[in-house]
Amino acid sequence: MPSQNKYPVKIRVCEPDITELEVKYVTDAIKNAEISSIASPVHMLENEFAEKFGMRQAIAVNSGGSALFLALKALDIGPGDEVIVPDFTMIATAAAVTHCEATPVFVDASEKSFNIDPEKIEEKITPRTKMIMPVHLYGEPCDMDAIMRIAKKHNLLVVEDAAEAHGAKWKGKLVGTFGKASCFSFYANKIMTTGEGGMILTDDDEYANTLRHIRGYNFDDEKHFWHQTVAWNLRMSALGAALGRAQLARLDELIEKRRKNAAYYMAGLKDVSGIRFFPEPPDTFCVFWMFGILAPRADELMDFLDKHGIETRTFFIPMHVQPVYQSLSQKEGEFRWSTHYGEKGFYLPSASHLTEEQMDVVIAAIKEFY
Ligand SMILES: *Cc1c(COP(=O)(O)O)cnc(C)c1O
Repeated sequence: MPSQNKYPVKIRVCEPDITELEVKYVTDAIKNAEISSIASPVHMLENEFAEKFGMRQAIAVNSGGSALFLALKALDIGPGDEVIVPDFTMIATAAAVTHCEATPVFVDASEKSFNIDPEKIEEKITPRTKMIMPVHLYGEPCDMDAIMRIAKKHNLLVVEDAAEAHGAKWKGKLVGTFGKASCFSFYANKIMTTGEGGMILTDDDEYANTLRHIRGYNFDDEKHFWHQTVAWNLRMSALGAALGRAQLARLDELIEKRRKNAAYYMAGLKDVSGIRFFPEPPDTFCVFWMFGILAPRADELMDFLDKHGIETRTFFIPMHVQPVYQSLSQKEGEFRWSTHYGEKGFYLPSASHLTEEQMDVVIAAIKEFY
């Protein structure tokens, strides 16, 4: 397993791509003592991020998980509510629902993509359902036509988890611009990073105002140190924001590199029998956060790559088998594809600044194994 490499690592699974520009932005912020969460880099990152996505409001927070939690909390998701979440995702999506004391309702992944299967959403909708949270996994957009149609028909909110998909597009429209709100992560290995950090996008000014209040203890506008409700400190630091501004300035470049790397892997692995991966579906622009493959004898292959100094990481473990969610009712065999992906999938080194020589080493090792 990757988290416990037995051999020295020569090629890491995913490292941040940091240049002189990032160094300059962060150094400038320190020199100007722009360090707190009310310093200008945070506002500038918010403005620049909102502009990049053509949205009215961007609210910076300290993690992608905080973004998800805050987005739901400010929409009054609470006890008794149900929220549709993909079974195949990272824990933060479901945890946001649980933190609101609502119930996540899991839907299997698709046969044709790692994303939620829209055809299996409607059977999970009950009178308690309030929201659908599509996750654009590994940088591939969900079928947003289908999801928005279902949401409209059943009068449900949509909050997109775009933590892995900055810049991805569904039919030419950026993911993160479809729902009531969308959430991004700027964790160190994401498409762009602030070290730790996250962002919420929305077009609703009033909702954005609520989000800004409850991310920082809900200070009263008229009377400071006066609180109508208890809230949290989920603010982003200005040093992170300074780093993020440099990364945002380079976002198109970072995406282009990831797309090129994915194309290189696909060309190199297309003739290796048994290896499967999903090419870019029509109607989408994928940003390939991680290059994932499904492989026979996946565990052995990962060990073999580890021996060659190549770090890999398993796919997510589906939500329905997690100790915290096992007690939720589920039908036998209903999570066929998420189970399959969780067992057979892992990702190859996927940093944006990976070189062709490094990918050649990975491809050659996979071929040697088989
Ligand atoms: C990374 C990630 C998150 C959480 O982001 P953090 O910044 O690590 O809190 C949420 N959802 C998905 C799908 C992610 O990949």
